[in-house]
Formats: sequence, structure tokens, C-alpha cells
Amino acid sequence: MKVGVARETYPDERRVALVPDSVKKLQDAGLSVIVERGAGATASFPDQSYVDAGAKVVNTAALYGTADVILRIHRPSADEAKMLREGQTVIGLFAPLLDPHGMAALSRQKVNVVSLDAIPRTLSRSQAMDALSSQANVAGYKAVLIAANAFGRYFPLLTTPAGTAKPANVLVLGIGVAGLQAIATARRLGALVKAYDVRRDTKEQAESLGAQFVTLKSAIEASGQGGYARALTPEEQAAQQEELNAVIAAADIVITTAQVPGRRPPVLVTKDAVHAMKSGSVIVDIAASDLGGNCELSKAGKVVTTPNGVEIHAPANLPASMPAGASTFYSRNISNLLLGFVADGKLRFDFDDEVTAATVITHDGKVVQAATLALLQSAPKGGTRA
Ligand code: NAD
Repeated sequence: MKVGVARETYPDERRVALVPDSVKKLQDAGLSVIVERGAGATASFPDQSYVDAGAKVVNTAALYGTADVILRIHRPSADEAKMLREGQTVIGLFAPLLDPHGMAALSRQKVNVVSLDAIPRTLSRSQAMDALSSQANVAGYKAVLIAANAFGRYFPLLTTPAGTAKPANVLVLGIGVAGLQAIATARRLGALVKAYDVRRDTKEQAESLGAQFVTLKSAIEASGQGGYARALTPEEQAAQQEELNAVIAAADIVITTAQVPGRRPPVLVTKDAVHAMKSGSVIVDIAASDLGGNCELSKAGKVVTTPNGVEIHAPANLPASMPAGASTFYSRNISNLLLGFVADGKLRFDFDDEVTAATVITHDGKVVQAATLALLQSAPKGGTRA
């Protein structure tokens, strides 16, 4: 069976789905690997590094024309989708619930779609395949580096002959995978870190990394299903915002990572809270997208400086800004998922298996994953590429 590695065409994407290190692992399982020319170039994996690892570098037509399985990161563009063939399997981070009709179109082409982001994340064997976590980890790390770069002072306490620099006060809002990495990175740089989340079991996790957990008097507990948060009621949200304002005003750096599955990111940093911050403070909102962000003043993909001198960064696609490291983790995630489907050198989907049932979105001309199917039955036609 031939496994193809696609060159990503999504704007500003620099990652690649499989790195040379993983080629041997696939070959050991009886698979051969072909790589679209230039696929790894922007992630510092030149074509020759794949050849050295035992893969063959091919042009676009040969990749789409001969691969049995195509590994990628984003959904195929309209032009790429036209090149996919009946019976071919594509694996990537496709966010099927954001584009159920796009999934249905691929199923009509009889393309089998497997989406890594649909993995049941709480299963312990899923951890090695959890690309949402591996990429969120990169995002949390990079968010702190962006903040440290933009901040006009030191992060650590420094005592020098020229005087003492106080450590920076960092506030992390949202203590999921990205938030935990942001705490760890800010602590390594020597900052004093506070952190807040609506899921109470995050307190211990934040404290174990050296952060002080912010406990609000309104004592909101909003653990939802599958380890995620539920959306707050308008009353809870108002109480939260009011109490958080004072904590935000005292911070030099605020990193926001809060998400609620299937909803707009909650606003945690209001316009008023930003206006109460000191000049030179920095906000990095990694939850921001075209849907809005955790900061009311974030502009997705842009840096905004407010009249009171607060810099608000809302970087798009942070994992792509660390392409070699992010691709290396992604490559392990996608190889582990793929190899779980392989028996005797061929793909075999066992739909009684939880991981298969959750991640295989379309198969044999049908949309088979329950959540996508339910959405198709209820959602109006349309959808965009994530
Ligand atoms: P996420 O990206 O969905 O959200 C980030 C954080 O924002 C979450 O901690 C959430 O509680 C928080 N949040 C949401 N609304 C908020 C609000 N109004 N105020 C403050 N914080 C708010 O989260 P994620 O990083 O994808 O992680 C989701 C869950 O999955 C976590 O429980 C994580 O531990 C869990 N997880 C488990 C495993 C595993 O069991 N193996 C692996 C990965 C992730």
C-alpha cells in the first residue's frame, strides 16, 4: 500500500503531515511512502531528507494519481479535492463538524475521510494520536514567546549592578493543553504566573506547574462533557468578567486560551478590562479567529495597540510558526493513527473499535461518523474550509 504525503496549500501553512523520521516506521509495517515534491521544504525537511529515509519524491499528479492513502494537515482545497480518486483515503485535521457538507461531497466521490481531531481524547491509547493536544502545546509555548518578545521589560527577577528588575506578572486564562504549556513556559522564563479556568480540577494542574490559581468569589464550576468546559450562562459570564477585571488590571501579560467546543470563544477580557491595564502590557489571544476571541478587542491574525498602550496579539495558526517541531509531533500522531488501521500491509477499518468509529468520517460512499451525520440531517447546506 502506498502512503502519500501532500504539500499543504492552505495560506501561510508551513507544516507537513509526515517527517522523514516516520518514514521508516511506516515501511516497517509494509507500507511504501511517496512525498509530493517540496512538501516538507517550509518545515526544514528538504526532498532529499525523505529520499534518504527511503521515500520517493513525486509530482502532484503522481501523488494524487497513485497514493492509496494521503496524509495531510488541512482539508483538501477545491482543486485538490478534484484530484482525489474513488477508494482513496485522506487523513488529516479536517474539523468535519465545521463542514459536514464538504465531508458529504467527498463521500459522494467515494473518498474515505479520516479526521484526527475526532479522536476520543480521554482514552489513554488516544494520547499518542492526539494532534489537537500536540498542536495546542506548540501554541501555548509560542504564545509566551510572542508575549516575552513584545514586552518591553524582563520576565525574570534580575538583580544587577544597575538595579533590580521585578519579575513580570503573567495571567493565563483557560488551563487546557495550551494554557498548561503557557504556564510552564512563562515559569521557565522566570515570570510570576496566575491562572484561571472554570473547570475546578485545573487548579491542581496549574499549581503543580508553579502557578497561583485564581479563585473567584462567584465560584463558577463549568466542567462539561469529555473534559471540556460548558458555556456559561449570561449571569455567570457577567459575574466572571467583573471579578476578572481586577486580576487582569494587575497583570503585565495576559495569555488567553479559553474555548468551548462548538461555540464562539467566551469573552474573558472586556474592552473596559483592557483600558484598565498599564501601558506596555501585552495580551496574546490564541483563541481568536473570525468568530471572535477571548479579548473583546482582538483582531484575528493582527496586532492591535490600544490608545492606553496595550498590545493585543491574536496570532493565526501558531503551530505553523514552529513548523519543524509541530510537524514532528503531528507526524507521530498521524502515523500512530494510520498504523492502527493497518493489518497485513492493508487498511482495514473495524467499526467496532472506538477510535475507528469516531475518526472515520466517510467510508465507501457514505458519511458514517455519527456526529457528522447528525449535523448533516439538521444543518443547512453550506460550510467553509477551516
Ligand atoms: P479547550 O481548547 O477546549 O479549552 C481551553 C480551556 O479553556 C479549557 O481548560 C476550558 O475549561 C477553558 N475555558 C472554557 N471556557 C472558559 C471560561 N469562560 N473561563 C475560563 N476558562 C474557560 O481545551 P483543551 O486544551 O482542548 O482541553 C480540553 C480537555 O481535554 C481538558 O480537560 C484536557 O485536560 C482534556 N484532555 C484530556 C486528555 C486525556 O485525557 N488524555 C488529552 C488531551 C486533553
